[in-house]
Amino acid sequence: MIANTIKKQAKILSGAEFSEVIKREVAEEVKRLEKEHGFRPCLVVVRVGDDKASEVYVGNKVKTSRELGIVSEHEHLPAETTEQKLLETIENLNRRDDVDGILVQMPFPKHIDENRILEKINPEKDVDGFHPINVGQLAQGQKSLAPCTPAGVIEMLKRSNIEIAGKHAVIVGRSNIVGKPMAMLLLQKNATVTVCHSRTKNLSEITSQADILVAAMGRAGFIRGEHIKEGAVVIDVGINNVSDVTEARELFDETEIEKRLRTIEKRGFTLVGDVNPKEAREKAAYFTPVPGGVGLLTVAMLMRNTVDAAKSRRLK
Ligand code: NDP
Repeated sequence: MIANTIKKQAKILSGAEFSEVIKREVAEEVKRLEKEHGFRPCLVVVRVGDDKASEVYVGNKVKTSRELGIVSEHEHLPAETTEQKLLETIENLNRRDDVDGILVQMPFPKHIDENRILEKINPEKDVDGFHPINVGQLAQGQKSLAPCTPAGVIEMLKRSNIEIAGKHAVIVGRSNIVGKPMAMLLLQKNATVTVCHSRTKNLSEITSQADILVAAMGRAGFIRGEHIKEGAVVIDVGINNVSDVTEARELFDETEIEKRLRTIEKRGFTLVGDVNPKEAREKAAYFTPVPGGVGLLTVAMLMRNTVDAAKSRRLK
């Protein structure tokens, strides 16, 4: 008998595809608002200091907003900006009637208290969804501006016709920006939710029961085949740099490794999620790649939050 050597491969959920559709929808809504209500939504992104990654993220957000017809401003303040000055900047943006969304790019310089800044943003303009009022509304299952990355994950599942209700969703990571809001959103969609973290015992025993597994931990390729239930939906939120060639070989199969090694040679690193892609592809039914997965949805959802914030505030 000839052995069946065809390997089962997970279906790849393409962030590029979903984010393009969402961005198109946002652009159409922006046009409609201008035509029917005479305004275009406006997003202001504030950046303090010269963190290189933040510069790229902010550039991307500003560029995408402009492409979609959203009015966009970028306030770049020097690293030595005092907390008081930053609070005043936010206060001015809160007061400006033409500003619909305010996003202060994290991380902040060490002398600035993150919570004080986030609490200062008018919750109606808090397009990142980090203000305690928005967090509370999300926890209560009310309509709110939800954090963009977990909201993007929900959109991806919804648009792929992946059922959430009644499924066991396991999230690895409990941060305020990904893990916790992800849990709240999945709960709202009637999943049975388990949240794991660095003190969780027997992690693989828990994750391998997940119908939907969300990895948001910041550990390159940590989630391996043994953590994944056969046929699960695996969502990889992590974004990590891998520069070691041996490590890369552990993570990528023959279809991808050459490209990854070229990237390491050229840039010094390649982007890797929290899930080992080689093993996930063999076990999962659906899998999000890194790059090209959840990350792209994050920016698209920020655009949608900006439009939603503009509509709720201006069309009351
Ligand atoms: P944080 O560092 O804030 O949180 C990491 C979480 O993972 C913590 O809750 C931590 O547990 C948990 N964790 C760490 N190690 C382990 C372990 N060995 N076992 C179980 N749990 C563990 O990270 P973020 O939530 O901000 O980000 C997570 C990842 O997602 C990062 O790679 C980040 O770059 C990426 N990211 C991607 C975005 C996108 O657009 N795709 C947006 C935002 C983040 P504990 O609480 O106990 O410390």
